[in-house]
Amino acid sequence: MGRQTVKYTIINCFPFNKMEFTEYYKDIKDSKKLNLRSSLRELTLNGLSFWDQFLGGDKTSEKPRIQFLYFHHVFKDEEKNLDDLLKVLSKKYVFLSYSEAVNKILKNEIDKPYIVFSSDDGLKNNLAAARILDRYNVKACFFINPTIINEKDFSKIKKFCSTQLRFPTVEFLSWEEVNLLQNMGHEIGSHTMNHINIADSKEDLIRDEMHASFDVIQEKCGLVKHFAFPYGRFFHFNKIGNKICFEIGYESCASAERGCHINNPKALKQEELFIRRDQVVFNWNPKHIQYFISRNSKLASIQNSISPFL
Ligand SMILES: [Zn+2]
Repeated sequence: MGRQTVKYTIINCFPFNKMEFTEYYKDIKDSKKLNLRSSLRELTLNGLSFWDQFLGGDKTSEKPRIQFLYFHHVFKDEEKNLDDLLKVLSKKYVFLSYSEAVNKILKNEIDKPYIVFSSDDGLKNNLAAARILDRYNVKACFFINPTIINEKDFSKIKKFCSTQLRFPTVEFLSWEEVNLLQNMGHEIGSHTMNHINIADSKEDLIRDEMHASFDVIQEKCGLVKHFAFPYGRFFHFNKIGNKICFEIGYESCASAERGCHINNPKALKQEELFIRRDQVVFNWNPKHIQYFISRNSKLASIQNSISPFL
């Protein structure tokens, strides 16, 4: 399924540089070099996840709630990790599509422990992820930046990755592949046109970026319902962005702030809902991922669902 491009070499512009896309997470990890801080983090999480299990972490997984998880990449050396994680999660949770989850939160119909998957940035290896998600009948939402979809110019891709994503050079989906994801039952959401930091942008640019991505995705995919703002932390968004989001016609707005969602005594309007999502890197120890999920369950609050940008 899909085109597998192993190497991307441009010889006419840069005769002495062979340019390749990053295909293994190991290469990214190696380039970062493990430092004392990351080793300490690993050790701390080992201890915390051990105690969480010891103190009944499994019990917290039974609490009715919706936990959104999102990822950026499933490199070749992460495919098995994703499969393993889905195997574990499928025993304890029911998987929902993104739209099903948003509707359940708005209607206060959270009656079971649910997990929802989404992905940001539209990397080509999201296709491999979709094939693995398919084995567990998981329907995800893929948030894309239309500017970089279908881009073939290596130097433009490299620039986008380093300036907008702060990431090594990776290949992105084509529109054909985006449509393939849709045909597999996944949803396509907007992540702005150019992966801008909304909090740092003027109102006109915010409106253009959110509007143009809505229009392009609607034209190419027929439908776009959900928006996730780039970089994802509270300080990357603002009231103007939230207002424009719902004026344009998006039905939900997502962050990358950790947390899960529980029923709210008062029904929320679309523009009052603020989706929280936990990032997962499949190379992480699955016990650590479960620890974060369990911690969210313990800290679950109705405030989590309410937008701080009203
Ligand atoms: Zn992003």
